[in-house]
Amino acid sequence: MKKNEKAVVVFSGGQDSTTCLFWALKKYEEVETVTFDYNQRHNEEINVAKEIAEDLDVKHHVLDMSLLNQLAPNALTRDDIEVKDAEEDGGLPSTFVPGRNLLFLSFAAILAKQIGAKHVVTGVCETDFSGYPDCRDVFIKSLNVSLNLSMDDEFVIHTPLMWLDKAETWELADDLDAFHYVRENTLTCYHGVRGDGCGECPACKLRQNGLETYLRKLEEVNG
Ligand SMILES: [Zn+2]
Repeated sequence: MKKNEKAVVVFSGGQDSTTCLFWALKKYEEVETVTFDYNQRHNEEINVAKEIAEDLDVKHHVLDMSLLNQLAPNALTRDDIEVKDAEEDGGLPSTFVPGRNLLFLSFAAILAKQIGAKHVVTGVCETDFSGYPDCRDVFIKSLNVSLNLSMDDEFVIHTPLMWLDKAETWELADDLDAFHYVRENTLTCYHGVRGDGCGECPACKLRQNGLETYLRKLEEVNG
């Protein structure tokens, strides 16, 4: 049974946040989405988010976060720097914007306050922790306390993917009857190719690995 409560989903149109959107739709009577526009390398991300929100009949807010560009000129926001894997130089991925989730979740909570939503849902994940300290569970819990104190409210931040690996995230989408939708309509690829993507970039490879692992597991189960 759905709770007669309202949730805001932090939404990028990617596999993870779309799975979270389906999760929220199953759980809450009212769901709205928020996408942060920070001059992503591919504005396609905003378009995909918009289309999926329309498709699933949920209200979609787009907040201008272009100030991130000023704070962190890097590969995600500027076209003249190449996207690199974290492993290549042993440090954080070149797409790293320090404190990004801190900002996004704070703005999402302020939006939640305005529209009377108690729940904030985000697809952050500690399992494939790629060096983003503000994706860790301990940070989310800490921020949840701070947000509640800052606005004298009782928000609950939900992280359905926190302890899942990429294969388990596909499994969750499947459990939510959203496997095909997520596979075909979401955008993960750094080169802006929807669905299974370009197959070459780090984001596509990660997504593809998880998908193949999940499909193998399905085969084993079904014989
Ligand atoms: Zn790609």
